[in-house]
Amino acid sequence: MNKVEKVVIIGSGPAGYTAAIYAARAGLEPLMVAGPEIGGQLTKTSDVENYPGYPEGVLGGQMMDDFRRQAERFGTRIVYDVVERVELLGEPKALYLSGGEVLHTEAVIIATGSSPKWLGLEAETRLYGAGVSACAVCDGYFFRGQPVAVIGGGDTACEEALYLSKLCSEVHMLVRRDQMRASHIMQSRVKGTPNIHIHWNTIPIDVLGESRVEAMRVKNKLTGAVQDIPIRGFFVAIGHKPNTEIFVGQVELDEHGYIKTAPKSTATNISGVFAAGDVQDAVYRQAVTAAGSGCMAALDAERWLALRAYERQMARS
Ligand code: NAP
Repeated sequence: MNKVEKVVIIGSGPAGYTAAIYAARAGLEPLMVAGPEIGGQLTKTSDVENYPGYPEGVLGGQMMDDFRRQAERFGTRIVYDVVERVELLGEPKALYLSGGEVLHTEAVIIATGSSPKWLGLEAETRLYGAGVSACAVCDGYFFRGQPVAVIGGGDTACEEALYLSKLCSEVHMLVRRDQMRASHIMQSRVKGTPNIHIHWNTIPIDVLGESRVEAMRVKNKLTGAVQDIPIRGFFVAIGHKPNTEIFVGQVELDEHGYIKTAPKSTATNISGVFAAGDVQDAVYRQAVTAAGSGCMAALDAERWLALRAYERQMARS
């Protein structure tokens, strides 16, 4: 067996990096497995204006780079690979990486975040990368001067619509109810932007186009009216699902797949396994709350390791 790590952090978003900063400064020499999306969801966003300490705002990618440098400054080692399978019930715990490496560790901090949800339309898969997207910052540039659609009525949808409104000729925002879920300030900004057209009580039923998006077919849920609206980009922004597939059957999850943690703690049902960030938070889902829970997870792991070391020493004497 290779070296047994004290703590391995899975995921490199605000929760993972903050856990790494705290664990490294506590002398735990953390090893982080960065995962498929290095830096997490914030690298797909534009300006972050609500993270304390950045009075002028900061680009999401820049902020995560700052987090990474801070974690590395205290000795965090980062493996740029993906955990494919875990064995968390044994001792030490084993993490199998897609590159073939197997990591052994006493404690694990899960900070794998969440991923965008899709509507389930056949055309989403067929036209993904050909006009269908879940990331305006990544793909909006391709549709400059052209009409696009944003699906959803939450903060993410508003943010995507506002971003696209600066690049595209028109933004058709489809909201499935007669009100939005988004915060008041985001709604006001969207409503005050002349080239964003909000279609209330409206859902997309198809995306049209052979090799690229040419239009969407939408239905008004109240009147039943169906119409085709010409667009080039179709941006889905209807929320996220937690990245917990590899933990099913081992770590206890709630009915939506989020990891359950003990009250006022990041402890999961498995001793030595802690969870932080969006993977265990369906409510707040903010960078700053993720970072806060990453700090908690590192402190919880540190105390757990210290207690274990003490118990082992007692058993020997
Ligand atoms: P969300 O708040 O869950 O909103 C999802 C939106 O998509 C809702 O309007 C929902 O409609 C709609 N929706 C869901 N399934 C749909 C479907 N099948 N067809 C059509 N519409 C559908 O998700 P989010 O916007 O990603 O935000 C997640 C969290 O991150 C929130 O706490 C948010 O405040 C936060 N956030 C903050 C910022 C910021 O502060 N800058 C930016 C982004 C996100 P219903 O309302 O009818 O369910």
